[in-house]
Amino acid sequence: MRLRNIPRAEGVLEACKEVVKNPAGQKSRWHELFQNQNPVHIEIGMGKGQFLLTLAERNPDINYIGIERYSSVLLRAVEKFQLLSESPKGAPSNIRFLCMDARELPEVFAPGEIEKIYLNFSDPWPKARHARRRLTSREFLSLYAKVLPPGGTVEFKTDNRPLFDFSEEEVRESPFFTLDGLTYDLHRDAGMNQGNIMTEYEEKFSAAGNAICKLIARKSP
Ligand code: SAM
Repeated sequence: MRLRNIPRAEGVLEACKEVVKNPAGQKSRWHELFQNQNPVHIEIGMGKGQFLLTLAERNPDINYIGIERYSSVLLRAVEKFQLLSESPKGAPSNIRFLCMDARELPEVFAPGEIEKIYLNFSDPWPKARHARRRLTSREFLSLYAKVLPPGGTVEFKTDNRPLFDFSEEEVRESPFFTLDGLTYDLHRDAGMNQGNIMTEYEEKFSAAGNAICKLIARKSP
C-alpha cells in the first residue's frame, strides 16, 4: 500500500471515540468496552476497512476490532465509518479501531480473548531475509496462539502464490495450528467462498484476473 503522510490523520483518529487510545489498558477487559459477552474477532492490516465494516454490519452479535499500523491508512477506514454514521442506516456499533503493530498483540489481548483473526492480502515481504515480517510467519503464528483459545482460527487470503505457499508451510509446521481449509481459487470454490466479503485488494486483484487463495488455520486443543 502506498503511504502518504496525512497531517490531519492524528487529529481525526484522536477525536474518533471508536479508535481505542490505550489498547494495552483494555487487556482482559474488551467485553467491558463492548458492553456485551459476544465473541471478539480482529483483522490485522485492515487497510481501508471495507471488509471489516461489512462484516460488522452483517454480524451484530460479534465484536470486531480493526488493527492497522499506519495512521494514514487507518484514517481511510475511520472516514468510511464516519460516512456510514451520517447515513440513514447508521454505522455498526460493534466495531473498534486500533492503530498499532500486530507484534504487540499479547500486550493488548489476554490469552483466549480473541476467537478469530483475519489476515487479508498481507504484505508479501518477498526477500528471504524479511520472512519473519510476514504476518503468517512462525513468529506471528506463535503470537496468535497466545491470544486465541483452543479451536480459535486464523483466516488468510491473498493472490500472492509464493506468500501463500510459504504460509501453508508455516501452518503445517506449526506446533500450535492445524490446517482446517485451503483453496487456490476461492471465487470458484463454492464451499470456501460462501459468505465471502471482498477486501479492496481482493476486488482489484480478482478484477485483474488473479486467483485468490485462502487458508484457515485452527488452534489445536
Ligand atoms: N487488508 C486490506 C485489503 O485486503 O484490502 C489491506 C491490505 S495491505 C496490502 C496490508 C496492510 O497491512 C497495510 O495497510 C499495512 O500497513 C498493514 N500491516 C502490515 N503489517 C502490519 C503489522 N505488523 N501490524 C499492523 N498492520 C500491518
